[in-house]
Amino acid sequence: MSRIAYVNGQYVIHADASVHVEDRGYQFADGVYEVCEIRDGHLVDERRHLDRLDRSLRELRIDPPMDRGPLGVVLREVVARNRVRNGLVYLQVTRGVARRDHAFPAAGTPASLVVTARSVNFAASDKGAEVGIKVITVPDNRWERVDIKTVGLLPNVLAKQAAKEAGAKEAWFVDASGHVTEGSSTNAWIVTADGKLVTRSAESGILRGITRTVLFDLAEKEQLRIEERAFTREEAMGAREAFISSATNLVMPVVMIDGQAIGEGTPGPMSRRLRERYHAYAEFSV
Ligand code: PMP
Repeated sequence: MSRIAYVNGQYVIHADASVHVEDRGYQFADGVYEVCEIRDGHLVDERRHLDRLDRSLRELRIDPPMDRGPLGVVLREVVARNRVRNGLVYLQVTRGVARRDHAFPAAGTPASLVVTARSVNFAASDKGAEVGIKVITVPDNRWERVDIKTVGLLPNVLAKQAAKEAGAKEAWFVDASGHVTEGSSTNAWIVTADGKLVTRSAESGILRGITRTVLFDLAEKEQLRIEERAFTREEAMGAREAFISSATNLVMPVVMIDGQAIGEGTPGPMSRRLRERYHAYAEFSV
C-alpha cells in the first residue's frame, strides 16, 4: 500500500507529493504547522490543536485554507487512506505561492495546505519511557515569537542535531539568564524535592504545548501541585525528576542532563504516573 499525502486539494502518492518552488513555506518559512497524535484510530486533542493552529494563523495574518469542518474531513481522510491506527497526522499551512518578494502576496492568494500521516510504534516509545532519555542544554538563539508554531525551525534543527551527536534525545534551550525555556520540539519540566511540578510560564519564551495544557488539567484533577515558573539549568540538575512533554513523546522521563544523572538516574514515579494517566485527560475525537 502506498502512502498518501493531501496537497492543495488533492490526495496524491506520498513519493510524488510536491509544492511549487515559489511556495512561501519553501522560500521564507512563511507558514505554520500542527502535529496531532492518533490513538486507536482517534485524533487526540484535535480541538486544542486546531485552536492553536487558528491562533498561529491569526498572529501571522495568514487566511485559513479552509474551515474547521472540511479540515477535519481532510485530516481523517489522510489518516484513513494511510491506514494509520496509531501514529501522527501532520498539517502545514503556508502563505501560498507567489513571485518571490518578502512582503505579503496580493490579497486573495490562497494559502497552501499539506497533510501527511504516518504510523508510530507506541509500544517502542513506552519501552523507551521505561529507560528515560538524555538531554543536553544549548543557548536559546531563537526569535521572540516562539509562541507561534511556525515551520521556521532552524535553531531547533541545529539543537536536535547537537543532541543526537552528543548521544542525547533532546536539547533544552537555556536563555540569557540561565533559565531553561523548552526543548527543541518539546516542553521542559522538573519535579522539585518536595514533589511540585514546575514548568515555565507560556506567557513568553515557549510554545504553549497541548500536552502541557492537558497535564495542567491532570494535575488539577489529581491534586498535584504545579508551579508555572522558570527554572535554571542548575535547579534542573538537582531536581528529583525531569521530563519532556509533546504530542509525539507524551510524557518522557529525562534521566540525564549534560552528563549528570537526575534523581536516581532512572524514570521517577511522577513522570511514570503522568505518562500512564495522560490519556484519561486527553480528548479523543471520532
Ligand atoms: N515546544 C516546541 C518547540 C515544540 O515544537 C513542541 C511540539 N510541537 C512542543 C513544545 C510541544 O507541543 P505539543 O505538546 O503541542 O506537541
